[in-house]
Amino acid sequence: MSDPIAFTGSCACKNITYTSTTLPASLTNCYCATCRKLSGAPFTTFAETPTSSLTWTVKDPASFKQTSYSDIATRQHCSDCGTPISMQYKCEMEVIGLTVSSIDEESVRGKIPDVGMHIFVDQVVRIGGFEVPKDDIPRAGRLTKGFQRTIEAWKKGLAGPGLG
Ligand SMILES: [Zn+2]
Ligand SMILES: [Zn+2]
Repeated sequence: MSDPIAFTGSCACKNITYTSTTLPASLTNCYCATCRKLSGAPFTTFAETPTSSLTWTVKDPASFKQTSYSDIATRQHCSDCGTPISMQYKCEMEVIGLTVSSIDEESVRGKIPDVGMHIFVDQVVRIGGFEVPKDDIPRAGRLTKGFQRTIEAWKKGLAGPGLG
């Protein structure tokens, strides 16, 4: 018996679909310039979900693209319709940030947590008077200090003795 499905999702053209057996642990709004360019919106909301909970179904594997815009993360999108699907930090591959807009809302069984963090608020776009919502949700200019330390430790590990 496999675990019951907690939610499903897809790109706009349904070339890529996924199911997850657990709900996301947290949601984060990212205002970075890359999220903005890729989404066509002032920010992207990611639903951090255990990678091991996901099952992918891809009709045309050649259209399931992986791209890195920095040395710390990899993003996945459908090249047929352009939908950004997910992002993974290389130091934390056991978690995948699914774009909330790719989740099929009607499929969700249970309660997905509310947004718990605004990140990269230093890069917020101001066009049209847009700003980070004035709320009590914690915010970070870029990454949180704790996660920045995780990334630095990961980078040190890569450069450490024995790997050269
Ligand atoms: Zn697609
Ligand atoms: Zn971002």
